Amino acid sequence: MSIDAVRFSDFDLSPRLQEAIAAHGFETPTPVQEAVLGFPDVLSTDLVVQAKTGSGKTLAFALPLINDLVAGGAPRVLVLAPTRELAQQTAGEMEWLGRPLGMAVATLVGGVPIGPQISQLRRGASLVVGTPGRVIDHLERGTLSADAIESLVLDEGDHMLDLGFRDELETILKRMVNIKRTWLFSATVPDSVRYLIRRYLKNPRRLVLSADETANEDISHKAFVCPSRKRYEALVNVLLWERPERAIVFCATKVETADTALRLAQAGFAAHPIHGDMGQRERNHALEMFRSGGTGILVATDVAARGLDVTGVTHVIQLGLPSNLEAYVHRSGRTGRAGNSGINVTLLSPVEARRMKALVRSFSLKISWFPVPDKKDLERLEHLRLNEELDKLVLIPEGGGYRELALAILERADAAEVTAGLLARLAFQAPRGYALKAELEAEQERAQRDRGRRGDFRGGRRGDYRSDRSRGYTASSGRARPRGSR
Ligand code: ADP
Ligand code: MG
Repeated sequence: MSIDAVRFSDFDLSPRLQEAIAAHGFETPTPVQEAVLGFPDVLSTDLVVQAKTGSGKTLAFALPLINDLVAGGAPRVLVLAPTRELAQQTAGEMEWLGRPLGMAVATLVGGVPIGPQISQLRRGASLVVGTPGRVIDHLERGTLSADAIESLVLDEGDHMLDLGFRDELETILKRMVNIKRTWLFSATVPDSVRYLIRRYLKNPRRLVLSADETANEDISHKAFVCPSRKRYEALVNVLLWERPERAIVFCATKVETADTALRLAQAGFAAHPIHGDMGQRERNHALEMFRSGGTGILVATDVAARGLDVTGVTHVIQLGLPSNLEAYVHRSGRTGRAGNSGINVTLLSPVEARRMKALVRSFSLKISWFPVPDKKDLERLEHLRLNEELDKLVLIPEGGGYRELALAILERADAAEVTAGLLARLAFQAPRGYALKAELEAEQERAQRDRGRRGDFRGGRRGDYRSDRSRGYTASSGRARPRGSR
């Protein structure tokens, strides 16, 4: 960071908000945050803000809006998001910002009981984040009052206008009688939604942070061409080839998503599905497992494509042709977030590959094309890896303290013995699982004694018991990944 970097303190933000930001560990605003915070009279205008995925749009709208609020009273800010997960994520960011200022956030999403949401609203929430359907539900029940709402944010706004939400959005907008500003934030603003923007927003000012909506330089794009009937097998090879730490695999349909996740899990990969046919609890669970690192691979429909922010996603893998360029950009935008680098991999049949090339022709997107890695390639990779490992093990570096130690070891035992011992130690994997045998035998013996004391009427039982024991006991150990995939 250079000395003259713009800092949050350069803007007219309340000291307590500054403290909340600093406490969260953020030092400098991202470009989109800088642009919105520095926009003259930003609170008195409608906005369309276009900035690439992962560039910090949430805080870009949250900061000026929260800064303008005082705690207490009815909700004055309403943020609408196209998916439940995105709404929950945005609510999370608003919460750590608002809490130190005494501002609560109500999260109004479908698929979960409405009661707790009503309690949240009753207790008093300055900020509301939700999906359109459930927000309308609350407006109609009268549990959310539109009267006080002054700010409306459409997060991933083009998607909200684009798909199915039009009627719902209209219903909500009609009720916003005291609205002072409507802000639309998105990574992409395709032509198809321009007229809707004109219709819903009043003389919006446009802030375009990335002239080319496809360019997030932190993401490198690869396409692998695979046999059209071997997409799953190709996916496995790609996973073994790329060895992602954390990957989101996008499928076209819910069925394909569920199937792919199941097959991967059966093959020993730590994979979980997330799609719209799952209950909200399951969806949250899958996402939580992924965030916490319990699952390395999240297999998703586009429900997870928009806006989701999971740190450390090293790879996005798209199975098949995306429905359009926007979908491609949003999916790939789940990696390469907040300045980290990421890899987008698209798996295409030869026919799809031709279409993909046509799709991206007029954009500056740079995609490298490869045939899908084959078993032979994977073997070569494994040999390379082994060689590197062996080099690390066998070479005794000068200096670094190892050498003395190594020579001391050789003085005590001969080289062959040392090597064999080392290899054995490396090869031996202590089984996971629990030691249960002793406790089981003790318990069985106790039972046996008790039976003896009571007098054994059913003499035949002893024989059964011994044959049970002679069958032995093995504890199985689950493997998170298949052999050789580390
Ligand atoms: P977008 O909505 O543009 O896709 P997000 O608002 O989800 O991006 O932000 C992406 C990530 O960057 C989040 O993890 C967020 O916490 C982080 N982030 C946002 N602003 C800053 C900042 N000023 N400094 C450091 N990290 C930030
Ligand atoms: Mg976002």
